[in-house]
Amino acid sequence: MSALPTRHEIARMDAQDPLGDLRDRFLLNEGEVYLDGNSLGVASKDALAELQDATHTEWSRDLIRSWNIAGWFDLPLELGDRIGRLIGAAAGQVVVSDTTSINIYKALHAAIGLRQGRNVIVAEAGSFPTDLYMAEGVISTLPHMSMRLEGRDGARLEDLIDDQVAVVLVNHVNYRTGELRDMAALTRKIHAAGALVVWDLCHSAGALPVELDAAQADFAVGCTYKYLNGGPGSPAFVYVAERHLGHVDQPLSGWWGHARPFAFETGFAGDPGIRRFQCGTQPILSLRAMKGALTIWDEVDLQALRGKSLALTDLFIQLVEGQCAGLGLTLQTPRDHALRGSQVAFSHPHAYEVMQALIARGVIGDFRAPDVLRFGFTPLYISFADVAQAAEVIRDVLVKETWRDPRYGVRAAVT
Ligand SMILES: *Cc1c(COP(=O)(O)O)cnc(C)c1O
Repeated sequence: MSALPTRHEIARMDAQDPLGDLRDRFLLNEGEVYLDGNSLGVASKDALAELQDATHTEWSRDLIRSWNIAGWFDLPLELGDRIGRLIGAAAGQVVVSDTTSINIYKALHAAIGLRQGRNVIVAEAGSFPTDLYMAEGVISTLPHMSMRLEGRDGARLEDLIDDQVAVVLVNHVNYRTGELRDMAALTRKIHAAGALVVWDLCHSAGALPVELDAAQADFAVGCTYKYLNGGPGSPAFVYVAERHLGHVDQPLSGWWGHARPFAFETGFAGDPGIRRFQCGTQPILSLRAMKGALTIWDEVDLQALRGKSLALTDLFIQLVEGQCAGLGLTLQTPRDHALRGSQVAFSHPHAYEVMQALIARGVIGDFRAPDVLRFGFTPLYISFADVAQAAEVIRDVLVKETWRDPRYGVRAAVT
């Protein structure tokens, strides 16, 4: 086995990091290593400054006028276009609105509406559960539909796709293992069977370059509070390819999706553009914080982001495997760069307790049932020194078995 990098070599990685200067723009706790930006991204100074402006000036002083003069009404579209640049979507195809769960519901219904006569939704048994729950909700309103699951009805998604399938709902990066799918290749296979695709980008938007237009994707959804650092519960986004706009429907036909919301007409007439995928009034304070959080992305080269992400996760795997051999950890994340998102997962028989012990030592990751320790690497604010520190603490907790302390076995509501 090759020698592990020295402290000096790790310091050099940080010195040569093209994104290294961005770290100062975030509010990080001294001495802590935050490896949970794939669950809740860190607050940025830009986000808090925008929030301050939104509360102190726009809400407190300008009040109702802010819908027009501060651009509140168009904010979901403005932010949608800014996210569009990060996910390879030309302007006019992305809107920020509602939650990922709700957007899955809208997108699945929309896709099924475009594929009348087909009656199957394909998804993954290993999907983030809300995706499956929302698909169940869609089926409860469209009882002729049924679901086929990779991992239950067949080993590979590709094997489940035939001319009965209306839509495939698939995660770009698996939330548990960090495995990355080939978006272009899978989209081609889905289209070859005449079906449509909904990509869930929760763990890839802001984590790596995404190319929705180039891949000819139909629909996509994703979070903004993970790698995009929009703030707790910040609204999600939904992408609809331009070729579908104008004749696609979504079921949550609220007034914000109307072509003329302030005409206050009796019947619903959907906007022909992406506005149609909004429903009702959006959380403006949250959108204003998100606007601040997105400013930093104007300075980020996505290839550099990807390069750093892979270097961080490579180093973490190398150090943890090198320093913790025989201590019960098993890598769950692909070693192949082409198959890896921006997180690393290890299984351990006492993963819950180990993660609580790590958090007590200032290494913040999370636990995913039944036995996974999950570590997310946000290239905007994680350093190579952070990676080395985390690996050392992991070794220490496992060697000394501090996780056996009974207080680390007490389960909290949110893991
Ligand atoms: C985080 C996450 C969600 C969260 O959905 P919400 O509606 O925002 O709670 C959905 N899908 C995936 C794949 C996720 O990782």
